[in-house]
Amino acid sequence: MDRKVTQQVTRATFDEVMVPNYAPSAIIPVRGEGSRVWDKEGKEYIDFAGGIAVTALGHSHPTLVNVMREQAGQLWHLANIMTNEPALRLAKKLTEKTFADRVFFANSGAEANEAAFKLARRYAFDHFGPEKHEIIAFNKSFHGRTLFTVSVGGQAKYKEGFEPTPGGIQHCDYNNIEQLKAIISDKTCAVVMEPIQGEGGIIPADKEFAQQVRELCDQYNALLVYDEVQSGVGRTGTFFAYEQLGVTPDVLTTAKALGNGFPVGAMLATEKAAKSLAFGTHGSTYGGNPMACAIAEAVIDIIDTPEVLAGVKERHDIFVAGLEAINEKHHVFKDIRGMGLLIGAEVIDSLAGKAGTFITAAAEEGLFVLVAGPNVLRLAPSLIITKEEITEGLTRLEKAIVKAVADAKAA
Ligand SMILES: *Cc1c(COP(=O)(O)O)cnc(C)c1O
Repeated sequence: MDRKVTQQVTRATFDEVMVPNYAPSAIIPVRGEGSRVWDKEGKEYIDFAGGIAVTALGHSHPTLVNVMREQAGQLWHLANIMTNEPALRLAKKLTEKTFADRVFFANSGAEANEAAFKLARRYAFDHFGPEKHEIIAFNKSFHGRTLFTVSVGGQAKYKEGFEPTPGGIQHCDYNNIEQLKAIISDKTCAVVMEPIQGEGGIIPADKEFAQQVRELCDQYNALLVYDEVQSGVGRTGTFFAYEQLGVTPDVLTTAKALGNGFPVGAMLATEKAAKSLAFGTHGSTYGGNPMACAIAEAVIDIIDTPEVLAGVKERHDIFVAGLEAINEKHHVFKDIRGMGLLIGAEVIDSLAGKAGTFITAAAEEGLFVLVAGPNVLRLAPSLIITKEEITEGLTRLEKAIVKAVADAKAA
């Protein structure tokens, strides 16, 4: 192949050769270090986006680079006709650190959820019969983009035009126990929830609501499935967010930060629930490969330490204080919320639908940020971002907000 041709790619190439399901920005980053990223022109950015809550240890973390290099020279892949040491070590650590007794490895959040939803169906089938198959999830929730996971997800726009979708799925409002009580029944096999809704707008579960959901699941013999794909692996200041709610799920899914950008997902389950994914019921070619598991093991060794987790809480306070200070001067947010380093700032009504303009304005100032829906600015930076980077990033954010608001007024 002619190397020159491949080197000449630009943003315009995207519109020629890629399926148009994404609309990426004009920036093409080529290098990252910690919480800083550089594009092709050498422009530097501070990363408050973390690849959507993925690069929890920043870019090119030296330990992870070494682990990856070492594993790359040893063994990449075996398929699940054989097990491997990194997978066994990672599974052992995940079970030691959580409520779970058993682990299933996948390659993404959606796949981890797919396994969880299939497990819920199969568990109910095994113990109660085929009638008990209904899954309840919450409006605005996000669980991935496969057909089953968009169906369980509570956002209609992701299902449109893909019907018929799998049946036996119901939705009700998050943090509204009366609505859940009205639809849960002996036919319910699982209630699925994010302990803090991410894509839905950074909406934390009320503690009391979370506990009542647990009680209802017990009452109706339904499994409680926590989707911690976004909230897990230290993001909220504890290893998993459920620890802060006083609730223990039966099944939990994780991905995003688990591999710090290397694709890996996991479904964690109690012994009793896990039994229903008996030999031959489910599988994945890449799931649990030694490369992904070696990296994930190193990620959790670094993140699940008192220093890093306490650092998340400290950084949360700095971010919130910074956003509040910006808001006092410019009056752009009506609510600043979140857990740990998953932070949302909802724009005031006169800026409704305009949160996305902050992304472009921020990039111009040299800053990556995210949104969660049309009205919420979302920050999900590295858990070990330095305080200098936070301060500098917030300065850039303020400039971006001033510009975006001026543009919105002029429009
Ligand atoms: C990102 C996300 C998913 C989907 O993960 P993928 O790796 O993109 O498949 C599922 N659930 C939640 C809560 C997420 O934030």
